[in-house]
Order: sequence, then structure tokens, then C-alpha cells
Amino acid sequence: MQVLVYGSGQLARMMYLAGAPLSIEVKAVDVSTKAVVHPISKAVLNNDLEQSIAAADVLTVEFEHVPEDLLAQASASGKLAPNMPAILIGADRVREKALLDKLEIANCTYEVITDVKQLEGITSRLGERIIFKASRDGYDGYGQWRAKSASDIPELVRQFVELDLQTVPIVAERMSDFSRELSLIGARNGSGEVVVYPLSENTHYEGQLHLSVAPAPDYTDELANQALTIFTKIANELDYIGVLAVELFQEGDTLLVNELAPRVHNSGHWSMHGAHTCQFENHLRAVCNLPLGSTHPRTVSAMVNIIGCDELGDAPLQMSDTHVHWYGKAVRAKRKMGHINVNADSYAELGQKLLGLNSQFPVEYFPELGPQAELLLSK
Ligand code: ATP
Ligand code: MG
Repeated sequence: MQVLVYGSGQLARMMYLAGAPLSIEVKAVDVSTKAVVHPISKAVLNNDLEQSIAAADVLTVEFEHVPEDLLAQASASGKLAPNMPAILIGADRVREKALLDKLEIANCTYEVITDVKQLEGITSRLGERIIFKASRDGYDGYGQWRAKSASDIPELVRQFVELDLQTVPIVAERMSDFSRELSLIGARNGSGEVVVYPLSENTHYEGQLHLSVAPAPDYTDELANQALTIFTKIANELDYIGVLAVELFQEGDTLLVNELAPRVHNSGHWSMHGAHTCQFENHLRAVCNLPLGSTHPRTVSAMVNIIGCDELGDAPLQMSDTHVHWYGKAVRAKRKMGHINVNADSYAELGQKLLGLNSQFPVEYFPELGPQAELLLSK
């Protein structure tokens, strides 16, 4: 089988690694040059995208912001999975919100802003604390503005008049006082078979994912069922094929959907060592219409993102059940450079191991590691 992935970053790279044992050959499209590249070396394999589309059995994406002309060309081949409407929904917060409302899935109350005049009186409708998100091309907290009180609104009005809100509207959303963030990752194949991973608990810092723990501590059958219902409704509605990630907020005992990612997801990297089948393999199985693999957790896991830093010494290599994965990228501030998966038999042991890493790591790059490790000790 040959799979062509649009996007040539770390997610395509990890699909390549997962595909090799199944004899699934993964190639990547650099969407800025349209060249087909090797997902690891990035060496150009073919400058003729049409030829590569014709040679591939399946086309898929590693990110949702693929230029629409490329998506349309991929879709016209009849080999694209997930399908183009599903990818476009994941790429556009306005469409995403409309889908959630249509399916009656809980999400934060919002307004779609296409004119700055709509900011008048907005705090009386959504509350004092509001998060404004550009409807397209946002990631890792970019393209977002926050109002802590009504007095912040005039400054936002000044900024938003400069934007073309008709072309790229802003979704204004009430800030949630969630008790925690979770995500659900699952896969659906062409036969309609669905599998989901246990929920993962995710810690963000400045809008960027820093740490995931799976299965999420203190999670109940009731939460798992809510998450499964949400996943199944969305995946069936979209006739979705592939891995789909659903980012969630927990408020009391209720799950609210924050956003959807029509692809493998950073909060699912723990599955590479912590589940019987990792998300990358299950994505390939799904898009190639093969039977899906078990998502059962082997142990409890943590995934620690390595952000903005390219040297960590030997500490993670000296610890048992700990694996480092570098993405081979040049270092830049706030850039995801790799991740570390840590496995343990209990949350307390996981907390101890994370504290061990924290004592060796530069704290400026891992601000959440120590505090989250401490919390795990008592789980
Ligand atoms: P990513 O691509 O990394 O998932 P993103 O830039 O697409 O992020 P969101 O997931 O919508 O954007 O927001 C990033 C983070 O900001 C969330 O994980 C959450 O921590 C916080 N956040 C977003 N929306 C809200 C909200 N309504 N209430 C409270 N916090 C929020
Ligand atoms: Mg997000």
C-alpha cells in the first residue's frame, strides 16, 4: 500500500514509522512547494504531484490547513481520507461550531464576529471573560485574543478593525472555568468500525500543549460514555475515515467540545508506547480500510512535549520505560521539537518519574512538569 500524506512535519514522520512494519509506504507532500518528499529525510522524491497522486492507494492529511486547491485536487482522485468536508470543518471554527450545534453537542457559548460593531455589549451576552479566536489558520494558541473584563473590549475593537472579518470571521467564546482539559482520540474505518483510546488529560501553557496523561486520572465510565457518544455522533455524521481528535473541557461532570482535529493529534503521542496500537498505526489502518487495532492502554502513560529546546542530556535515556522522540527540526522558540513518553504501573510511580526528569531539565522549557508531577503523586 502507498499512502501520500499532505504535510511533511512530525505527524507524517510518525505515520511513516508506524507504516513500515505493515508494508505501508508513506510519502509526504510539502504543501508549500507541492514536492513529494521522504517523511524523515525530507529529500524530494518527486516534483510531479499528479504522478504521485496516481501512484498512491490513499491520500490523507497530517494537518487541516492544507490549501483548498490542493485538497480539491486530492479529493477529485477519490482516494482522500478523511473526506474533504470533514477536513474543512476541522480547519474552520465557524463550520465546526455549526456542526456541534447541529448535533446538539455541548460547547462554549459563542458568537461569530464578522463586524466589529458586534463587540458592542458582548460581555453582557457572553460574560466578562471572553476568548476570541480567528476562525481559520490558528494553532498552538496563535490567532487568539483574550478579554478579562469589559474594559479590554475597546482595545480589541481597535485591533479587529484592521482585520478582514468578512473573509476570516472571529469566533468569540465564553471563557470556560473548566476543571481540566481532556481529549478523545478515536478512529473509524470505511466499514464503519470505531475504536477510541482512553481519555487523556492535557495540560496547556500559554495556549500550547505541554503534557498529556493517559488514561486521564479520576475518569469514570460516565465520562468515557459521554466522550464515546460525542465521538460516534461526529464520526458517523461526517462519514469520517481515519483518526479524529476531539479536544474537550470538563465542567463538573459535563464534557464540552473545544475543537476538532481531523487527524492524529499531539495528545495521542502517548499511545506510541502506552497502547496496544498507536494512533499512527490506527490512522493508517483506518484510511487503508484494514481492521483497527486495540486501543487498550498497556500501563499509565505521560507524554511530555519538548518545546523550544534541542538538548536534554541523557536523563530520559537513563530512566526505565521512558522513550525520547526527536523530530529532527531546527530549534526555534515555542517550536515543538520532540516528545518524551513515560510509562509506569501507577500514577504515583509516573509522578515520581516525571519529578526525576524535572530535576534534570531546564525549568523554563518545562514549566508544567514539576507541578503536574506533584499532583500525580496523590492519584
Ligand atoms: P491547538 O492547535 O494547539 O490545539 P488552538 O490554537 O487551535 O490550539 P484552542 O485549542 O481553541 O486553539 O485553544 C488553545 C487553548 O486555549 C485550549 O487548549 C485552552 O487551554 C484555552 N482555551 C481555548 N478556548 C477556551 C475557552 N473557551 N475557555 C477557556 N480556555 C480556552
Ligand atoms: Mg486546541
